Amino acid sequence: MTTISNRLQDILATIQSAAATSPSQQQVQLLAVSKAQPAAAIREAYAAGQTAFGENYSQEAVEKQKQLTDLAIEWHFIGPIQSNKTQLIAQHFSWVHSVDRLKIAQRLNEARSSMPLPLQVCIQVNVSNEDTKSGVPPEQLEALASAISALPHLKLRGLMAIPAPTTETAKQIAQFKQVRECYDALIRKGFALNTLSIGMSSDYPAAIAQGATIVRIGSALFGARTPPLKAA
Ligand SMILES: *Cc1c(COP(=O)(O)O)cnc(C)c1O
Repeated sequence: MTTISNRLQDILATIQSAAATSPSQQQVQLLAVSKAQPAAAIREAYAAGQTAFGENYSQEAVEKQKQLTDLAIEWHFIGPIQSNKTQLIAQHFSWVHSVDRLKIAQRLNEARSSMPLPLQVCIQVNVSNEDTKSGVPPEQLEALASAISALPHLKLRGLMAIPAPTTETAKQIAQFKQVRECYDALIRKGFALNTLSIGMSSDYPAAIAQGATIVRIGSALFGARTPPLKAA
């Protein structure tokens, strides 16, 4: 039987070898995406050594967090953010990868002000030019990065992207490259960034080759998900 522990070891080995051959030789962190997985599955991955977990739905996440208070988990929020959930998200997560509007950033900043550490944030960038997708268009990135950098309770760490799904490897690589170029451009402009959150179960080796420092992996670790029952 393949267990979460077996799959975790396989994924970590794949990450290692992809990072070793990547041009930037960067350190790569695995974020285990536990949306739609029960607390027991998170506990199992934790017992196998995984400590960073990503969730998309704030209420679902907080329910599971209540069952896992005995574990030293670092929680990352990676889903779309509704403004009425900013309080919950700012107080129950260490990281948010999916900031794409100043109004949301300001609300997260406000909600974080009572806590000792700033919220670690990535800006979600939209490189696939689809109107319906979340993420800020590349041409608005610098303005948003500047505005977020001025917020005292947020710490801007880098960029996140969810490229449009494609089976064409060349297209996939082109999208990761575009995110990487946005990231490098911000660094050249003086932003102190160190986090590029790209790559999921089906494409993380390609993302690492383009410089990913966090890969967000769900189904390859936990197995297939049933659709989420609760809205964000
Ligand atoms: C679900 C999800 C993932 C993980 O997807 P898998 O294909 O299961 O690895 C990563 N990032 C985000 C933002 C997600 O919503």
